[in-house]
Amino acid sequence: MKINRAKDLTGLTAYIKEEAQRLGFALVGVSPVKVPPHEESFAEWLRKGFGGELAYMKRTEELRRDPAKLVPGSVSVVSVGMNYQTPAKRTEPDGVKGWISRYAWGDDYHDIIKDRLGKLLDIIKGTCPELAEGSCSEPIEGRVFVDSGPVLERGLAGVAGIGWIGKNTMLISPQKGSWFFLGELFLNIELVYDRPIKDRCGSCDLCLKACPTGAFVGPYVLDARRCISYLTIELKGAIPQHLRPLMGNHIFGCDICQEVCPYNVKAKPTDETAYSPREGLLAPELIPMLSLNDEEFKRLFRGSPILRAKRRGFLRNVAVALGNLKSPEAVPALCQALHDHEPLVRQHVAWALGRIPSDEARDALVNRLEVETENEVRKEIQEVLKGAD
Ligand code: SF4
Repeated sequence: MKINRAKDLTGLTAYIKEEAQRLGFALVGVSPVKVPPHEESFAEWLRKGFGGELAYMKRTEELRRDPAKLVPGSVSVVSVGMNYQTPAKRTEPDGVKGWISRYAWGDDYHDIIKDRLGKLLDIIKGTCPELAEGSCSEPIEGRVFVDSGPVLERGLAGVAGIGWIGKNTMLISPQKGSWFFLGELFLNIELVYDRPIKDRCGSCDLCLKACPTGAFVGPYVLDARRCISYLTIELKGAIPQHLRPLMGNHIFGCDICQEVCPYNVKAKPTDETAYSPREGLLAPELIPMLSLNDEEFKRLFRGSPILRAKRRGFLRNVAVALGNLKSPEAVPALCQALHDHEPLVRQHVAWALGRIPSDEARDALVNRLEVETENEVRKEIQEVLKGAD
């Protein structure tokens, strides 16, 4: 039910923004609940198949395109952004090391932001007696989203004026850059709304040129099926062979299109210690990762976004990175991993061994082929051995 408290709208909106900032959200904007302007391009993006295996997006397309249907009775959306940039910088691979996307160095942001937005909702509910002065006949209701529901987060944040959607498809704040997690609080009360800001990409195309896999079909259009983030996190099956050599040492996400963005050059680091790199996750040593068993994987990444890839996806990525680094040092560990219980891992390990030719690798592949029962793995081994002849 809509609650109209016209007299207090400006004060209440300002108060909500102050409280959101106090809770750690450097970006805060407010918009009405309405269809974001780029919903058409989102629909087109899905139609063209650029979403790859992101099937849940197709299932919930209708709700994504119309937030009013998502939370019936909601009137306003408070969009927030929490900075996750830590001072650590990317270094060139030195030794047998991988690269994990900055957002996954520390604790999982979903829980942190959900908790803070929940606190914000409690604070807003608590303002009712003072601000409404008797006119607050309906209870304030709200619902929190953090990458958790069918919400076009960047579109809503853009409407709320906290940034524009750049050519790299990220939300960019002109002053604070794009290293932000986004979240939304849907409310059943009217507020004073912010205005969208102008696109400031101009003639820049640094991100489009920097993408190692050529995932940008054009400005503002990402083909997720080629994006390293998608390939290493969302894709559950085999990584297409033609893309593997382009992925470098990335084992979970990428970040390149954000690293090159001029608006991130002066972006200030976060105060949130939860996003600081956990020990060993900044340019991690790859060889020990190949021998992680299920228990060790879960223990190592407890509370981390990396759990999302699951062990088999993560080790698949590690194998591809090792194949790209071509370090002979990795051959014994790869030969060992050729007997991993996950066919997906064995398949990518075989590919990696094919990239580091040696007698040891060849013998291990020949031996594995004798006992291998999975077709995809057999095919991969046969291809490698054929190439080695
Ligand atoms: Fe826009 Fe340039 Fe940043 Fe890409 S790198 S998002 S084109 S400003």
